[in-house]
Amino acid sequence: MPKIVLENITKRWGKFYGVDNLSLVIEDNSFITLLGPSGCGKTTILRMIAGLETPTSGKISIGDRVVFDSENGINVPANKRNVGFLFQNYALWPNMTVYQNISFGLSNVKKEMPVYDFEAMNISEEMNAIRNPKKLSELINESKDRNGKIDEEKVYLKIIDAYTVSIFTAKKIYGFGIHTAENPEKKAADVTDGLRSKLDGIIKAHEAKNEKLEDNFAVSVDGKVKTEVRKLTKEEIDKAVRRVSAIVKIGMFMNRYPAELSGGQQQRVAIARTLAPEPSVLFMDEPLSNLDAKLRLEMRYELQRLHVETGSTFVYVTHDQMEAMTLATKICLVNNGVLQQYDAPLDVYNKPINTFAADFVGSPSINFVEAKGVQKADGSFEFKIFDELPVRFIPDADISVESWREKTTDEILKHNSEVVEKSNKDENFRYHIAKVEEEDYSIEDEPEITDQDYVIGIRPEFIEVSENKGMKAVVYGAMPTGMESTLKFRVGDFLITGVVFGGITYKIGTEVNIDITGKNILLFDRRTGKMICSGKLELEQK
Ligand code: ATP
Repeated sequence: MPKIVLENITKRWGKFYGVDNLSLVIEDNSFITLLGPSGCGKTTILRMIAGLETPTSGKISIGDRVVFDSENGINVPANKRNVGFLFQNYALWPNMTVYQNISFGLSNVKKEMPVYDFEAMNISEEMNAIRNPKKLSELINESKDRNGKIDEEKVYLKIIDAYTVSIFTAKKIYGFGIHTAENPEKKAADVTDGLRSKLDGIIKAHEAKNEKLEDNFAVSVDGKVKTEVRKLTKEEIDKAVRRVSAIVKIGMFMNRYPAELSGGQQQRVAIARTLAPEPSVLFMDEPLSNLDAKLRLEMRYELQRLHVETGSTFVYVTHDQMEAMTLATKICLVNNGVLQQYDAPLDVYNKPINTFAADFVGSPSINFVEAKGVQKADGSFEFKIFDELPVRFIPDADISVESWREKTTDEILKHNSEVVEKSNKDENFRYHIAKVEEEDYSIEDEPEITDQDYVIGIRPEFIEVSENKGMKAVVYGAMPTGMESTLKFRVGDFLITGVVFGGITYKIGTEVNIDITGKNILLFDRRTGKMICSGKLELEQK
């Protein structure tokens, strides 16, 4: 399966940058989620890779094939990129059965394919199924109803499942009547003899034409498999439909119409329809957003399994950070058309590149606390938080904030000199400070920011209710879910969110002590919003 490479991809409408200079490598067989707020450019990125939108500039390759290159005028159309789509509105054809919905696209496929001897292939599959007459008879007899009558539809599905054959071959295998024979072993041997002589005849006929039948029944001449431009046969289509239906478990619904299915079942049909042509890359744009919460969760598991079973590369658009975290091997986090971070989910969570990434990933959201102070000679920082509370931040690795700032400023200057005027300017993400009296940021003047201004990010799980350590706080809100409680604490005018495990009930208004624990407290530069390092936070009065 191919790797996808995007080099300096930009999509502009006038001065508006939908996507700005994006470079990205989507590794072979990975599951990538494109994550970001509404309007950040996720769908545009997906559509450009798929060939549904033409980038303004840049280069895209899928596998070893360049599918778009603005400099060399290459733009391979969408239907030649061997990619599958699954959109939010997956509209099935209401007047077609499930089977027809899935097979419809396959019947239009016409391309260069190997020449197979399907008759020989079918004979071989039939011989394989009757090799063990006892197993076949049992399989068929399992499908008797209460009155002892065999449910033929069910039998066919069982045969299809057990021997990976088409429905036509399944009917033939059933038709041999092995299960009703007085002596099934003898009956199977007789049928096999007939089949074998037929197969020998076919092989001889090929030899007479200087052709050979390969193990997979492809026809070859001088060691080279013959190919021809052709459509898929009805047997090939049937096998493809059965294969994908088994993956998403809809084998029993083949003859139903979409209106006779639940939302989740319809969704699975849509997935099967997308998978049937075996796309090497599967693009999905919020495919689960129409489903209820429980079904969404179920489908997430299905998608994970599907990814492993098909071995395809999945690119998945969502604005739901939970979905992105749980599904992806890597998250591509985008804001305002610009790639923010491209990392494994837990790396984005633990080492967010900036305040935007820290805020976007994680539920409940991270706490941002403004801090003012300086770095000491021993490497630690002395800060005041919540207006007057003294704290000490100890980085988990050696870092000089001065050299960090020099390097970062250089990078920003270099970047600014490269970019052209952008009407949707690089807006700085405005982190949210939770307060009892909410402030309206939009009417507030931008405060003057100095080198002494920092922002500390504290994930809710690092807030601990303690007997006597830490700072005084009042329980402001409590949301117990049974396994854990999300709590809001009031410290002065500020609100801090914490997650406490276990079914303890906290009464609103109770005075408690809270401590900040854990090694993964994050320190950001307030001017650029970039993360400087992680470390430990100690409340000074301890
Ligand atoms: P959502 O999650 O809401 O679907 P998205 O991240 O997928 O959003 P896109 O659909 O990629 O966002 O759009 C990115 C930006 O480009 C948006 O601000 C959108 O308004 C803008 N945009 C998209 N298509 C056009 C167009 N044809 N002309 C002008 N602007 C466009």
